[in-house]
Amino acid sequence: MKRSLLILVLLAIVFQSCVHRKPVERPKLVVGLVIDQMRWDFLYRYYDLYGSNGFKRLMTGGYMCQNTMINYIPSFTAPGHSTIYTGAVPAISGIAGNNWIEVASGKPMYCVDDPTVSLYGDNTKAPSMSPRTLLTTTITDELKLATNFESKVYGVAIKDRGSILPAGHLANAAYWYDDKQAGFVTSTYYPNTHPEWLDAFNKHKYVDSFVKLGWRLLYSSDKYNQSTTDATIYEKGFKGEKAPVFPHVFDSLADSDRHMVIKTLPAGNTYTLMMAKACIEGEKLGKAHDKTDFLTVSLSSTDYAGHQFGPNSMEVEDMYLRLDQDIAAFLHYLDHEVGQGNYLLFLTADHGAAHNPTLLQDEDIPAGVEKITLESDLDEYLMKEFKVKKEIKMDAKTHKPIPNNEQMLRGVVNYQVYLNDSFIVKYKLDRDKVKSAIINWLKVRPEIEYVVDLENMYKTAVPEPLNSMIINGYYPKRCGSIQAILNPAWYDNGGRTSGTTHGTWNPYDTHIPLIWYGWKICHGETDAEVHMTDIAPTLATLLHIQMPNGCVGKAITEVTQKKK
Ligand code: ZN
Ligand code: ZN
Repeated sequence: MKRSLLILVLLAIVFQSCVHRKPVERPKLVVGLVIDQMRWDFLYRYYDLYGSNGFKRLMTGGYMCQNTMINYIPSFTAPGHSTIYTGAVPAISGIAGNNWIEVASGKPMYCVDDPTVSLYGDNTKAPSMSPRTLLTTTITDELKLATNFESKVYGVAIKDRGSILPAGHLANAAYWYDDKQAGFVTSTYYPNTHPEWLDAFNKHKYVDSFVKLGWRLLYSSDKYNQSTTDATIYEKGFKGEKAPVFPHVFDSLADSDRHMVIKTLPAGNTYTLMMAKACIEGEKLGKAHDKTDFLTVSLSSTDYAGHQFGPNSMEVEDMYLRLDQDIAAFLHYLDHEVGQGNYLLFLTADHGAAHNPTLLQDEDIPAGVEKITLESDLDEYLMKEFKVKKEIKMDAKTHKPIPNNEQMLRGVVNYQVYLNDSFIVKYKLDRDKVKSAIINWLKVRPEIEYVVDLENMYKTAVPEPLNSMIINGYYPKRCGSIQAILNPAWYDNGGRTSGTTHGTWNPYDTHIPLIWYGWKICHGETDAEVHMTDIAPTLATLLHIQMPNGCVGKAITEVTQKKK
């Protein structure tokens, strides 16, 4: 009798321990840090002047994926942020660019425009922004779905798209900077539009204090060994400046310009990280409950300064040296607020940037900037080629002809030519012949390497990985019919020769940093090629949640299988 009682007690203990197994292990907080326009090589380009607690802390304590490539074109901000968080390429997520033309309606579209919502607190009810154009879930959405919506998700960035797309459809809120209000705002799409802590944060008017300080070099100028001299023709100064040189002082600018200029200063990143901290504190992220929270932070000022000054400028070097200090302070803050080892952080970029083409030309490297408006010249050529006689309508009052602005093309966006199909039908043109004429016109231009008929990809032999990158970027309802690929080191920047831009397939635009740090992450690195689309499934594996529903990437097992 005693013996059977003992067995029963033992069985009960075993049963109890089975029922009360440890809960699924997850970090208290996930932080995504996307540095807008940060090329992978910037980790090393400025390495010698970085301190030990910023980038170097992540590099020496985290896991580095040294060859992380973007696997689609165009390499712009909105596709970058959406791909990082969805694991889907633009051909699936629908985020075909920062801007595109809706093929069915012919309407130009900004990536996060949403006429059904307005800016919170805006009495005019003017259209504002939401993630509704994004066709797939994000990893942040999946975290919400996995925790019965209990996880809290917030997005913070200077750029609206850098905040909205990562935070996803289910975010409690995405906040971005509005220069008219000189503070962080959100739209009526989100449930948490108006927390008290946000009002308190905005009331400080930090922007005015930051801009008043101007932009001075962090170190003495002789330390800036990675840059050209301060004043070069490759840079564009700020409004009101005679030359693009330090110190940049903004005392004579009007308020509206001062509120705009913060975006391009290192202080724009400092301000964004202050806002991130205010959000963590205000919403008790990683603290209030046993569910994992997620904060997406995008640092946009690196991109604004990059566009204006280019990667060889002292301004960009100083931007990264100051960002290094801001990252160090932010990590220190997370250690104290959430606890070292309790947060999982990843750092990456939405795209890189080209060298300034004039600088390359001066060094005898083939490079250049599109100098003509492709669109209007091409339209004019097509009208002549197809002998189009546009309809003439007379003004009833003046009896004079009304100018007819009809065009055969809807535009050239993201290096893609959009046809105006209603024009082609109205004037009874042969669509295939129009397309051939466009392709022939484009391909003889010396700066154009390939011209691809996106509706018949097989017709043009294009080398890998270009071929896959074109396919991955092609979402037919929002893309043009013909894709132009420029020579390496060429880009279209509206004819501007100073500064830089991005958007192409080339490694300088598509090789991005990727570092994992914190919860369950072992120190190490891999040189194996991984893709931007692999970030979301790696997060899904680490968090034991479902991948986003359009994800085409693979978990980076070097990261997930080496858990602490
Ligand atoms: Zn960007
Ligand atoms: Zn940019």
